[in-house]
Order: sequence, then C-alpha cells, then structure tokens
Amino acid sequence: MGDTGRGILLVVSGPSGVGKGTVISGLMERYPDVELSVSCTTRQPRAGESDEKEYHFISDNEFEQMRRSGQLLEWAQVHDRHYYGTPRELVQEALASGRTLVLEIDYQGAQSVREQLGDQAVLVFIAPPSWRALVERLRKRHTESQQAIVERLASAREEIENMGMYDYVVVNDEVAEAVQQLSSILLAKQQTMERFDWRRLRDELLAQADEWR
Ligand code: 5GP
Repeated sequence: MGDTGRGILLVVSGPSGVGKGTVISGLMERYPDVELSVSCTTRQPRAGESDEKEYHFISDNEFEQMRRSGQLLEWAQVHDRHYYGTPRELVQEALASGRTLVLEIDYQGAQSVREQLGDQAVLVFIAPPSWRALVERLRKRHTESQQAIVERLASAREEIENMGMYDYVVVNDEVAEAVQQLSSILLAKQQTMERFDWRRLRDELLAQADEWR
C-alpha cells in the first residue's frame, strides 16, 4: 500500500458470540476519534441490521468485482459460507492521515492484514472465559437457527486454533474490564516510538534546552 503514514489499524478477532461488538462499542464510547471500518458481505442482513451501518450488504457478483479490481484490502469466506471483505479506501485514508481504525474481522483477514501492513496493525484476539460460556452466549442470542449455531461453533474452533498469531489477548469475562484492556492496548500502541513523532519532540526539547542556557 506504499507510504501508509502513521495511523493505526486495530484488528479485533474472536469467535462469534464472544462479544467483540460490545467491547468495540465500549472502546469507541471512550475514544470518539476511533473509527470502525464497515465491511462488505454477501450474507443477508439479520433482523435489525441496516445497510451501511453493520455491513455493506452486496451480491456475490458485486463482491467478486470488488475483489478483482483490488478494492478490498483483505477478504475471506467465513463460516464456510459467505464472503466478507474490508474496503481498502477508508483504510488507506485513515492510515495516511494518522487516524485509528478498528477492523472486526476473522483470523484469515487478520493474517492478511499482518502480511500487508506489518506492525502498523495491532492484532487483538478476544477470547471467551470458557467454551461453555461461548455456547451459552450464542444460544441466548436467538438470532441464529440451530444449524447456524453449529456452523458458528465450528468457526469458533478455527478462530481459537489460530489465536497464536495475535499480538494481544483479551478475555471477555467482564465487559468493562475487557474494554479497559482493549483501551490500554490502543493507548500503548499510540505511544510507540515508531508512531510517535519522537524526532520532532526531541529536537524541540533540545532547542528549548539550548535557549535555557
Ligand atoms: P457475522 O456474520 O456474524 O456478522 O460475522 C461473522 C464473522 O465474519 C465475524 O466473526 C467477523 O470476524 C468476520 N468478518 C466480518 N467482516 C469481515 C471482513 O471484512 N473480513 C474478514 N476477513 N472477516 C470479517
């Protein structure tokens, strides 16, 4: 992607039902400057979901066209069914202008982002406190058919099998604590030397020191 400035991509993954959305909302309430990338998907909207808000809901053909023309930064087939992808444009803009963008994507997407953007992306895995807790949360949602729950649990296994590639793990037992942990990860990333304009700060401080004499 060429020169990508000093923005941050906060990539958040974890099994369906683990509460990624809730934890990310908590982070965004605290830090209103943080933006959320809206993915494209070929799946149908669920009750209560609207186009452009949760996802850009598009057809298989549209997805294929976007993929072929390089408009997707990353894409994956999730739950062995539908396609999901991150539009490249917003990511490029955010990175070039030093903003922070959250990507809620699966482990395949996370891997692809790491390959393309290296340390400019920080990869966080949200884990459930136990397998039982995950199953119960998925069942309570009631938005899914039994078949969909079985598929989601199969993907949850895959997500967990791949958690080793992430930079950080947050166990979502208490939401407030998980939000606190995710916020701390972001704050730490914002203060890293490679991102911080440390040369300018150094030069300013040294210039002040010279004047002081
Ligand atoms: P759902 O269908 O429940 O909204 O999402 C299923 C999974 O797709 C989520 O766990 C999420 O991690 C993943 N996902 C959503 N958007 C993207 C995307 O743009 N790229 C990739 N690779 N995965 C995504």
